[in-house]
Amino acid sequence: MDRQSVVPLVGNIATVHSIVAGCNDQLPATDGLLTGLVTGNHLRRLRNNIPLATLLELLEWPHKQRNGQVAFLCPRCQAYLSAVNPRTNLGRCFHCETNFNPIDFLIAARQCDFVEAVHYLTKLLPRDGPTPPTN
Ligand SMILES: [Zn+2]
Repeated sequence: MDRQSVVPLVGNIATVHSIVAGCNDQLPATDGLLTGLVTGNHLRRLRNNIPLATLLELLEWPHKQRNGQVAFLCPRCQAYLSAVNPRTNLGRCFHCETNFNPIDFLIAARQCDFVEAVHYLTKLLPRDGPTPPTN
């Protein structure tokens, strides 16, 4: 039914790529960042603190509200039979029965590798957890 909206997707992803590339100068070299930051705790923050719905917005990934839930185009099977569970921050595709956390989703949607996904999502994290910036 929403097959049409799939078509312009390549363009959107290219846009995201260039946005991400433009942000790279704020970061140290990839290897340094990753060896320093990718701990279990960091990955947990990426999975829990970046709402999947927000990621869908940022990626301009096809999604819509359905029965009070966010349904998204499955990056794996292209079905639109899905829902985001805000409590677990997981997106589930009922067609191919895949669960996506933000990292999984980004890897599937952008066909990037784990390292790139962590890089991208790290930039979306609120700075150093729950403490609001005061200075
Ligand atoms: Zn699927």
